[in-house]
Amino acid sequence: MTRGFYVTTAIPYVNARPHLGFALEIVQADVLARHRRLRGDRVRFLTGTDDNSLKNLQAAEAEGVPVAELVDRYAGAFAALRDPLALSYDDFIRTSSDPRHRPGVERLWRACAASGDLYRKHYRGLYCVGCERFYTPAELDGGRCPEHRIEPQQVAEENWFFRLSRYQDRLRELVASGALRIEPAVRRNEVLGFIDGGLEDFSVSRSRTRARGWGIGVPGDPDQVVYVWFDALANYITALGYGGGAGGDREAAFREWWRDGDQRVHVIGKGILRFHAVYWVAVLLSAGLPLPTGILVHDYLTVEGAKLSKSSGNAIDPVALAERFGADAVRWWLLREVPRVGDADFTVERLEARNDEDLANGLGNLVNRVATLVRRFRDGRVPAANPGEAPAGAERLLRVRAEAPALVDDALAAGDFRRATTAVWAIVEDANRYVEATRPWELARAERDGASSGRLDAVLAVLLDACRSLAAELSPFLPRAAAKVAAQCEPRSGRLPAPEPLFPRIRQGRAAPVA
Ligand SMILES: [Zn+2]
Repeated sequence: MTRGFYVTTAIPYVNARPHLGFALEIVQADVLARHRRLRGDRVRFLTGTDDNSLKNLQAAEAEGVPVAELVDRYAGAFAALRDPLALSYDDFIRTSSDPRHRPGVERLWRACAASGDLYRKHYRGLYCVGCERFYTPAELDGGRCPEHRIEPQQVAEENWFFRLSRYQDRLRELVASGALRIEPAVRRNEVLGFIDGGLEDFSVSRSRTRARGWGIGVPGDPDQVVYVWFDALANYITALGYGGGAGGDREAAFREWWRDGDQRVHVIGKGILRFHAVYWVAVLLSAGLPLPTGILVHDYLTVEGAKLSKSSGNAIDPVALAERFGADAVRWWLLREVPRVGDADFTVERLEARNDEDLANGLGNLVNRVATLVRRFRDGRVPAANPGEAPAGAERLLRVRAEAPALVDDALAAGDFRRATTAVWAIVEDANRYVEATRPWELARAERDGASSGRLDAVLAVLLDACRSLAAELSPFLPRAAAKVAAQCEPRSGRLPAPEPLFPRIRQGRAAPVA
């Protein structure tokens, strides 16, 4: 019986084109989806855009265009990441125009109201539109939002509030027990600290006037619109038809992936952890719905030392990068170089160096050598080898290869993409080492001098097998590169295809050594 794995990205605001930080997140989620498919699970992978934010409204007003036009334009730019980054998402939801969304938000609201968790209150507070949230004075840094470095606005209005305080103990138990797995540990501890600081009820609506009418109306209260975070978080279930907006058997996907699914995993950035690990989970508890099973949190990217943000003008365009260097090179830098904890600094030089060292010299060279050896010494025919009998000296390579899948599974369950790639890369390194140690070209010379053919056959069989398992294990990380490796190792009409350089070096200069 296959397991159901549902994975989502956060849905970004669409007040600008996507930057490299979102590329990191969606590539991570893509790796998780491809990995679970490779392991035989049923997978559904959702991404989309948060259209109903006040930020979008402000950006539209600044440009002098209707907000619907602005969100259409930028939502299109997010959807257009798919091909350049080789993404495999199954579904893309837009919270303003998608007919699935509004009925689900309204149903979720009514479910919380039925639990007695929504009430009206007059409220005065400090609101950061960048974050779309209220801050207490103690949470500010010198009077400014710690994320956006701007002074929040004084807002006084009558809002609907959600009784978050009621869920403090249950939330703590869920996080501390690991029933809701938050990775890495530093983020889990951050959530526990926040819960232990005391959870206060939070505002879940805005006046329709302040929202200029943009957003989803509160059911039964036409003067208010639903708070954009309550609205946005609901996308994870409205996309599955929760609320009956999906047509056909209206909630079949919701049952399959959310209610009865085995794993429900959100991939998010560290800045929105509280919304997912506390607010969203509490809303689901209130509505009597199943909870996410995992929240994997990434840190931020900087570019040449500067913080990456849509507004600060240093947003590296992931599409332009992928057009210049290819999806594999961009994905590889994001997956191989970004540490599990701590911000990572992107430069084009680092991407180029990573590509040349790993993909061109390490992987490309290995596959090219093996294919060349098989063509040269066996006329391209895959040597027959006794599978039970590993040639002397191959033990370590065979062990590394056998251990890699479990190491990858463990690392990806913790959202540690660098550790996962390390396990796969050990095969590349050990296979290259094995070529150097066995020197197949000398075995071929010995054959010509009368030695038996068994030794060279066995060595080539081990190497081809290593390349094939690389093609499989790399496919979640580098889908296009893995397909090239697989094609190079697959006989056509009985013979391996002529070797081609699979991954050209970006920087010229010293050529990669060939066998
Ligand atoms: Zn802010």
